[in-house]
Amino acid sequence: MQRYDMFIDGESHPPSTDNWFPTDNPYLGAPWAEIARGGPRDVDTAVRAAHRALGTGPWAELTASARGALLHRLGDTVAAHARPLAETEVRDNGKLFTEMHGQVSYLAQWFHYYGGLADKIEGTVPPMDKKGYFAYTRKEPVGVVAVITPWNSPLLLLAWKIAPALAAGCTVVVKPSEFTSASTLELARLFHEAGLPPGVFNVVTGFGQDVGAALVEHPLVRKVSFTGSDTTGRRINQAAARDFKHVSLELGGKSPNVVFADADLEAAVNGAVSGIFAATGQTCIAGSRLLVQDSVHDEVVDRLLELAGTARMGDPMDEDTQVGPITTPAQYAKVLDYIRIAREEGAELALGGKAATRPECGDGWFVEPTVFTGVSNSMRIAQEEVFGPVLAVIPFRDEEEAIALANDSRYGLGAGVWTRDIGRAFRMAERVHSGTLWVNTYRAVSYLAPFGGVKDSGIGRENGIGAITSYLEDKSVWINTGAPTGDPFVLR
Ligand code: NAD
Repeated sequence: MQRYDMFIDGESHPPSTDNWFPTDNPYLGAPWAEIARGGPRDVDTAVRAAHRALGTGPWAELTASARGALLHRLGDTVAAHARPLAETEVRDNGKLFTEMHGQVSYLAQWFHYYGGLADKIEGTVPPMDKKGYFAYTRKEPVGVVAVITPWNSPLLLLAWKIAPALAAGCTVVVKPSEFTSASTLELARLFHEAGLPPGVFNVVTGFGQDVGAALVEHPLVRKVSFTGSDTTGRRINQAAARDFKHVSLELGGKSPNVVFADADLEAAVNGAVSGIFAATGQTCIAGSRLLVQDSVHDEVVDRLLELAGTARMGDPMDEDTQVGPITTPAQYAKVLDYIRIAREEGAELALGGKAATRPECGDGWFVEPTVFTGVSNSMRIAQEEVFGPVLAVIPFRDEEEAIALANDSRYGLGAGVWTRDIGRAFRMAERVHSGTLWVNTYRAVSYLAPFGGVKDSGIGRENGIGAITSYLEDKSVWINTGAPTGDPFVLR
């Protein structure tokens, strides 16, 4: 079995605990590699290396343009290694190779985009109200950034954080999910070979409660950029607040996908299926609540069941597979548990509803694409994030009720609207509480468009120009150009 050590200060770093833990291939339902089990000592070594790199050495000495050029080189490196990186992702998290290959190839754009911004970070010269003074502002990197990622899209979500952080001049210590650490370690090594100086991108692997918590609490960390569950996000936010650290939190969702009677129903049903069954529902933006207007409810449900019923499950490496396994045994048990809960709550099971035991699923952790109808928005299946291939269909009467149902959630990450009425599209965009709203499409994301949540879906935005400012601090510099000294005891 392959063994992965950590990556700290430009080199492989065995764990101080002298322990490694297995990481599973969800399609085989068996381990394929061993990952270093780091501890607080390794966290300290990594954070100190990141802190050193910030102050002295080749990274600190790079001009902004040279830093940008280096980020472009990292983008080229990702693109050149997209296939093997995607294969590692699939082996570790079970998502479809076709999706992961596209996703990893695409994430090169994050390094090109933020590489382009690296030398456009400009301070300002505020107009002056005091005679004899000149002031200007500098934008400085916040410092060492702790990056903590989940298991569903390890490299994509990592790129969303480290590309702007590095462009801003920060250094990072990454704690990937214990379920999917391998690809992050491979990327760190590739970036090192591409010329990223030691200490700039460190990876400490292990479990959340020891490595993740120690990282968040480390006094030399100045910002925590986290993607994961709202339960962990809340804990991290509290810990970070003790030392007034900056946080970005990308958390969970229970996103409504709203189909009006005037919509192109074929497109809407396609969008509903890709919203919940792509990536086996293991995406934060899964359109897990399908709100359907009464008058087309039965037609939409019929079309939905017909399409979802054709999903080909199986080996995620196979280009024909449409639905892969669930990434972890714990998540698999959780999804099946929510199916039981929905049935007990009185939702009507219209499709799936059980573990998939088709021969092509082998020993993997598969759940049949599942659709519940007759769901009321107050049921747990409509309020809680399942993070699996389980769709709750909820009928509504009119636009007012659709908005009320869409907003009746503690989350606010994504939302979809299917309509041919342009006025309605604008009204929904204004009144639905979410970080992203898609009209007649679902799940589109880009390095150009801000992404994040409202309410329990998080704090802050990734992607777009604004994301880089969350890795920068403003400093005001005052220069006396000839102001009279005056009375030293009186502040002017
Ligand atoms: P999780 O919260 O269990 O774990 C995420 C990371 O946090 C892991 O690396 C874990 O080891 C670490 N961690 C756990 N406890 C910690 C602690 N006390 N201190 C510091 N770190 C700790 O989430 P998960 O199960 O890996 O991922 C699924 C969740 O992520 C879902 O809720 C999903 O919606 C969310 N997610 C959100 C987005 C988004 O952009 N909004 C994207 C993908 C996933």
